[in-house]
Parts: sequence; structure tokens; C-alpha cells
Amino acid sequence: MILQLKRLFERNGDRLALDNVIPLEELRDYGEGESFAAPISIKGSIINRAGMVSLDFACSVSFRHTCDRCLDSFVRDYSFEFEHILTKDRADPDDDSVYCEGGALDLTELTVSDIFAELPTKILCAEDCKGLCPICGKNLNLGGCGCNAEE
Ligand SMILES: [Zn+2]
Ligand SMILES: [Zn+2]
Repeated sequence: MILQLKRLFERNGDRLALDNVIPLEELRDYGEGESFAAPISIKGSIINRAGMVSLDFACSVSFRHTCDRCLDSFVRDYSFEFEHILTKDRADPDDDSVYCEGGALDLTELTVSDIFAELPTKILCAEDCKGLCPICGKNLNLGGCGCNAEE
């Protein structure tokens, strides 16, 4: 999802309200085995204050994880808030403002990278996930397998 901000960059005091939904089709390429389970909804604003353009937004995310212990897949919901300074001049590498080439912002790219920075890299479907039986491989959350019955 590309936002054209050329005019906003040029006009002090300009403000753009964001109320966007990034459709799943735009999210398919992200996630390597895990994936977004629903479109991402975004609410926020982009404001030009005396030439300084800032972006603030909140997003709700539904993400399909793979449990590290039982390997089952499950969906968890999150809400995040992010803020950035936007620049249309090529930013120097030490600057963490977001470079908008030609005044265009790729909101999908930015939102997804913000989200991946926040999502846990190790996660369990439940704190007390019982995992897989080391002998037969059954998911023990679904019931016992009998392997340890003799002990
Ligand atoms: Zn699990
Ligand atoms: Zn077993």
C-alpha cells in the first residue's frame, strides 16, 4: 500500500488521517512458514509540523504462529503502536527516519517490518503446552499416548 505524501511534505500544518486496511493479498510474501491470519487495520495520522513530518499509528494484527514445543499452529492477536519521522530527502545511515522516495511511503513494508520487530521469535501455544511425546511424536495436548504408561 503506497501513500503519496508529496503535497503533505510541502505544506506545513498539513495532516492526513490514516484509517487503512492492508489486505491479506499484500501480506502473503511475509512470514516464512508463519503468516498473517487477517488483514492489518491501521489508524493514525501523518502530520507536517513546521516541515517535520511525523507518522503515528496503531495497528491490530492477527498472526498465525507455530508453537515451538508442539509445532501446532495457532493464531494470536496483537495491538501495536508505532511512530516514525518521515523524510523525502535521502536519510543518512545514522538517522532512523523513514526515507520516502519521491514523497511516497510504502505503508505495507513499514508496518510489516515494525510488526516483525515486535513479534516474539519463540512462542508457545499455551504456557503449559505439553509438547510432543519424544517416543511416538503425538501432540500430548490432545491427550496421552500411553508411551509412559508402564512407568
Ligand atoms: Zn504447543
Ligand atoms: Zn508417545
